[in-house]
Amino acid sequence: MTQTQTVRRHAVVTGASRGIGAAVARSLAEAGMDVAVNYASASSQAAAEALACELAREYGVQAYAARADVSSSEQAEGLIAGAVERFGGVDVLVNNAGVTKDGLMMRMKEDDFDRVLAVNLKGTYNCCRAAVGRMAKARFGRIVNMSSIVGVRGNAGQANYAASKAGVIGLTRSLAMEVASRNVTVNAVAPGLVETDMTDAMSDRAKEAALERVASRRMGRPEEVAAVVAFLAGEEASYVTGQVIGVDGGMSL
Ligand code: NAP
Repeated sequence: MTQTQTVRRHAVVTGASRGIGAAVARSLAEAGMDVAVNYASASSQAAAEALACELAREYGVQAYAARADVSSSEQAEGLIAGAVERFGGVDVLVNNAGVTKDGLMMRMKEDDFDRVLAVNLKGTYNCCRAAVGRMAKARFGRIVNMSSIVGVRGNAGQANYAASKAGVIGLTRSLAMEVASRNVTVNAVAPGLVETDMTDAMSDRAKEAALERVASRRMGRPEEVAAVVAFLAGEEASYVTGQVIGVDGGMSL
């Protein structure tokens, strides 16, 4: 049975104005879910609104753009409360919002460490905390957290990012144990090198060096990550929880 033939699900995707998050929002809408398209910067408002219109037009679902900085617990709570008000509930939460502020540890500024942890890890905590009680009560929920291969293996120049993404894995596994009996699954996806603004910012040399470690010898596309997220967010992934799924073209081999 496909998603569209079952109950209409309601999803919140953080950091969905572009990149992997936008592809995830499209995949969930294609599966028949209503989607709150979260973004943070004023400059991304038009892109988020255009995506929400596209989802409503192409897939006949409800969709809207929702500005919130997930590192703020008040704004994260407002994001989830807003989706509950618009849709009547939140069944699916994809914590995808993420930032990098790279630098070698010896030169890493405290602010750059704190900001990356605040968005990537605390933001995930903020949104999970705002949504999970309602999911447990409803006896249904799917939470998918965006980690990274860097959170599993580490990466020189990304101690802050690696710590945040390793933290996301610890949070995912622990929360999965807490809510599994309520039919709420919590999983993490760990992408390798994916073509987005985040990797556009890397130098050609850094990209070539990273690509040498990818068995597929190419970067991934956001849609390839989104397909795995959509599976984990769907009805059929009901017995998958606490897992970290690599989507990395064999980079972790
Ligand atoms: P991206 O293109 O840079 O997009 C980042 C998204 O996060 C944007 O929508 C941005 O919103 C949003 N965002 C940033 N700070 C936020 C905040 N405080 N509150 C809410 N939203 C915020 O990144 P991406 O490459 O698609 O990455 C998406 C996720 O995958 C991240 O968690 C990243 O760490 C992870 N990942 C990416 C790769 C890769 O190779 N690209 C690999 C492994 C893991 P605005 O547009 O408003 O700024």
